[in-house]
Amino acid sequence: MTEILVLAEHDGGTVRKVTSELLTLARQFGEPSAVWIGAGAEAGRERLAEFGAAKVYVAEGGDVEDYVVAPIAEVLAGLVERLAPAAVLIAASGEGKEVAGRLAVKTGSGVITDAVELTAGDDGGLVAEQSIFGGAIIVKSRVRTGTPVIAVRPNSVEAVPAPAAAGIEPAGVELTDAAKAVRITERVTAEQSERPELTDAGIVVSGGRGVGNAENFALIEKLADSLGAAVGASRAATDAGWYPHQFQVGQTGKTVSPQLYLAVGISGAIQHRAGMQTAKTIMVINKDPEAPIFELADFGVVGDLFQVVPQLTDEIGRRSAN
Ligand SMILES: Cc1cc2nc3c(=O)[nH]c(=O)nc-3n(C[C@H](O)[C@H](O)[C@H](O)COP(=O)(O)OP(=O)(O)OC[C@H]3O[C@@H](n4cnc5c(N)ncnc54)[C@H](O)[C@@H]3O)c2cc1C
Repeated sequence: MTEILVLAEHDGGTVRKVTSELLTLARQFGEPSAVWIGAGAEAGRERLAEFGAAKVYVAEGGDVEDYVVAPIAEVLAGLVERLAPAAVLIAASGEGKEVAGRLAVKTGSGVITDAVELTAGDDGGLVAEQSIFGGAIIVKSRVRTGTPVIAVRPNSVEAVPAPAAAGIEPAGVELTDAAKAVRITERVTAEQSERPELTDAGIVVSGGRGVGNAENFALIEKLADSLGAAVGASRAATDAGWYPHQFQVGQTGKTVSPQLYLAVGISGAIQHRAGMQTAKTIMVINKDPEAPIFELADFGVVGDLFQVVPQLTDEIGRRSAN
């Protein structure tokens, strides 16, 4: 069976959800093998096995861990040359997309980013689907040169277990000096909240300028917590200092593709849509019935968020308790 490489996203030994999704996707087209960069492969192996990784190629040690991004692309390029996989799947995170671009250049291959679905073409080649212009247009494309390198958005498919061996093998790739151009001098661990990571979350509740000030974001957080959701924000809200920039959703922020996206007090500017338009279900709370965000909404409430959000939070709490 053809091998498909999946770059594992992980935090030490903890495998991120998107990796299980990519393994699930890869299984439809061949036999997935995970590529693990850095320490913790033994700890992450069980999860990779659960979702169908036949092998886990591991590259660890100072050479790969102490330099920014380039070593990851070089390890993958070495594996592509040696194994000739049918494709390489990477999470469409900021770093993932940079790795995808570098890998494509190194291997002389085509690259597709922000794919939301993969299907088999007539000849069995992979066809990737992208959603553009506020979700108004679906683009289908495929790579015709080299090994398809495809960056897939988190939450594009549901991760389904299918156990496999996940046998660990060294990646066995020697890095060049060019891959060691930018050294990491310090690592600072980001403060972890109890909430799910924004780009991985199945539900995202985002607040915009309509929220009014930083204190009122507690309403958005409460609603998010009642749903086990991540909190996002529009740029208007982050630029005003009401919520940290790392939670900004949109063209110049994070791209999310959750099962459910709740936009609260957000008008739906094209730059905001660019980061959330592929959410499976979109719910809107806005007091202006003409707000463009309603064009995207599967379900919309025209109303004042200060009345709607507390009632919604209470009702969700009541139902969850039953
Ligand atoms: C190059 C560039 C990049 C950008 N990148 C991004 C990006 O990544 N992400 C992003 O979000 N924006 C981005 N923007 C900004 C974008 O153009 C918009 O300005 C921004 O998204 C507006 O945020 P908003 O919807 O919260 O605010 P507004 O457009 O001001 O909308 C506020 C909404 O809240 C509603 N409202 C007000 N009060 C209430 C209430 N009490 N109850 C219910 N509803 C209420 C209003 O009806 C209105 O629809 C970018 C702009 C540029 C030029």
